[in-house]
Amino acid sequence: MVVVTVTAKFHNPSRSRRKEWQRATRLYRDTKQFCIDGWENGDFGKSVTTASIDNDLYSAIQNQAIREAKADHTKDGEVRYRESQPFAVNNQNWELDTTENGTVVIGFPCVSQWWYTPIEVYDDIADPVDRLVEGDADKTRLQVYRRGDDWFCTFNIEYDTETSGETPIGVDIGERHILAVTAHGEDESMLVSGGEAKYVRRRYRSLRDSLSQAGALRARNRVGDKEHRRIKDLNHNLSRRLIQFITYKAERAGIRVEKVDAYHTSQRCSACGSMGTRDGDHFLCSECNRGRHADLNASENIAQREGEPCTA
Ligand SMILES: [Zn+2]
Repeated sequence: MVVVTVTAKFHNPSRSRRKEWQRATRLYRDTKQFCIDGWENGDFGKSVTTASIDNDLYSAIQNQAIREAKADHTKDGEVRYRESQPFAVNNQNWELDTTENGTVVIGFPCVSQWWYTPIEVYDDIADPVDRLVEGDADKTRLQVYRRGDDWFCTFNIEYDTETSGETPIGVDIGERHILAVTAHGEDESMLVSGGEAKYVRRRYRSLRDSLSQAGALRARNRVGDKEHRRIKDLNHNLSRRLIQFITYKAERAGIRVEKVDAYHTSQRCSACGSMGTRDGDHFLCSECNRGRHADLNASENIAQREGEPCTA
């Protein structure tokens, strides 16, 4: 089970909406404090229901307030809620959906009605949001809160991942190209060079899609050329961060990451296993005469190799 926390900013909520959320924030806090004080003073029992709560909040929100107050009441010490706490609704009483033009909206009850409000979907949350839209994940309670002039919501999504994929992907991390990636047996490969940070970001989605098909990602650090020590150090740092990033993302997607021995990954022909020669970017096999981009040849070797589990 993978749990991802999503925090999103509401996109330009109207003034009336913001006013109502502000009101809900206050009523939510008051409801919780009302419960706590009532229990402390013996005014009513723990089985208090929304029938005892005399305010305009939707009952789903009142219920969530009672639930949270109960949990807080079991803790030691006096419970006194601050004004700026989020208000919340349980998982069954809010929705994430897309409009006809693809805008992602979040719908939840509040005081007078359900509101559906667009959220801003950054790269970081695109994947969990997709999963929720596709119905491939479960969500937890929704919290809504204000920071400065902006309104945000936060929730967790939970999903199971399969780790039974079959396609190993080889990732070679070098100084000439930051990444060379090969999906073994699928005739799919890609090169990422240093000047292409933006490209990495854009291509990340398709890379991730390839990775999702895969059972293993094998990454390694390759020792660089002495003549390019400075560039190497720079890229090595970038590479290390990329490995961490890929490992993190891959493991969140349930993909096993392995580190393989770098021995001869550059000199060996990925087609026939013989030793070949490298001339700049070009690899030439002296046995089967196969020519290939040297970094891709290396990543193909990596994809074929067994390694050790890696947590970067
Ligand atoms: Zn060969």
